[in-house]
Amino acid sequence: MTDHAGPPPSLNLNVRGMHPSATVAINEHSNALIAAGHAVYKLGLGQSPFPVPPSVVESLRQHAHRKEYMAVRGLPELRAAVAEFHRRRAGLRHGYQAEDVLVAPGSKELMFIAQLAFYGDLLLPAPSWVSYSPQARIIGRQVNFLPTSLEDRWMLRPDTLDAHCRRDRGRPRVLILNYPSNPTGQTFSRDELEVLAAVAREHQLIVISDEIYGELHHTGAHGSIAEFYPEGTILSAGLSKWCGAGGWRLGTFLFPPQLRWLRDAMTAVASETYTTTSAPIQCAAVTAFACGPEIDDYLVHARDILRALGTWSSEKLVAAGARCHRPEGGFYLFPDFSGHAQRLQARGIADGDALCARLLAETGVAILPGSDFGRPKGDWTARLAYVDFDGERALAEHARDATVDEAWLRRVTPRVTTALDRMCDWLVRG
Ligand code: PMP
Ligand code: GLU
Repeated sequence: MTDHAGPPPSLNLNVRGMHPSATVAINEHSNALIAAGHAVYKLGLGQSPFPVPPSVVESLRQHAHRKEYMAVRGLPELRAAVAEFHRRRAGLRHGYQAEDVLVAPGSKELMFIAQLAFYGDLLLPAPSWVSYSPQARIIGRQVNFLPTSLEDRWMLRPDTLDAHCRRDRGRPRVLILNYPSNPTGQTFSRDELEVLAAVAREHQLIVISDEIYGELHHTGAHGSIAEFYPEGTILSAGLSKWCGAGGWRLGTFLFPPQLRWLRDAMTAVASETYTTTSAPIQCAAVTAFACGPEIDDYLVHARDILRALGTWSSEKLVAAGARCHRPEGGFYLFPDFSGHAQRLQARGIADGDALCARLLAETGVAILPGSDFGRPKGDWTARLAYVDFDGERALAEHARDATVDEAWLRRVTPRVTTALDRMCDWLVRG
């Protein structure tokens, strides 16, 4: 039914020319190279290196027999646990209840059906995570990228948001704010969130606050914009990052009562598409969100390891001439290599896209160019996910000896440290 001259006319215009998501594609490409016998350092896909905490795995084992379709919105016990988790962890005064929670197979799915159910523009700081903008494109929504700068740590400034919204006052808009950020590893302070909240309130924006890395704030000091703008904020989270369970596929949205109309519309869409989230996974997630001392302990170690490795890696990149901020949460760095542009161009490398392709071919280090995250073509930024290490071993070693220095990192996270060595040597090569 197809022919090699191009896509058939019956292919939806919105998905024409689309390719699999860059994060997923780099993972599959890296795996194919490894299967073909190449050495690859996997700093492309961002997934937690740490195992799912044993009590959560045990809970999944005990609930493997649960086979029924559960409520579209999610298991009531899980929804109550999620509401309580956010109240406690992010210090939210707002009295969220089970009925304010929607559970889905991944927050990515929730983002998608939110965009489907909401009619209006999508505002995204650039850079931001790879999938927000393609999702809008699939649905046919207008995307407006809001500029940020390296000097501002790539974080959205309130005056930039305000200036944009003033241009066409009253237009319905959703802003996605992700902090700690994928791709930059930077986050907002509570003071910064308070100012952004005031701008969002003035323009009556709906804010999807993507806090999927909140529990991986490197000092555990994550705060939410929902504290300052509860009535307009949907808090997005899930098990994927802090619980090491990306492949389990469980994401959550927490709605204020004022946005129940959106929650209900999304529930209707969910009921006509994915129906419900896997029953055993939801049962195990109750244990995860209840967050006993074992999980608190797990998080203390995980954060400390990520902070140490991220800091070491950013310093290494800076020493090699890149501009790179010290990470504050999650497991990403977003170096800018424009200081090397001339030397790289002399080696036939025209921009960040070419840099990533050549780096992989010549050193085996897989990273993604900034253009995948909304930076313009010709830009020299890239995203690096410092996750290619054995998280189970790292947790065990850290529990024995929490003094993380360079020697510790080289011993316990050798693939990341070697990748950084190779990358920096390659960069400064004449
Ligand atoms: N938001 C951000 C910023 C992410 O990095 C990811 C990647 N997993 C997601 C949302 C989606 O996560 P999930 O669908 O696994 O909940
Ligand atoms: N969020 C991860 C990343 O940015 C991977 C998973 C995904 O993109 O869905 O690399």
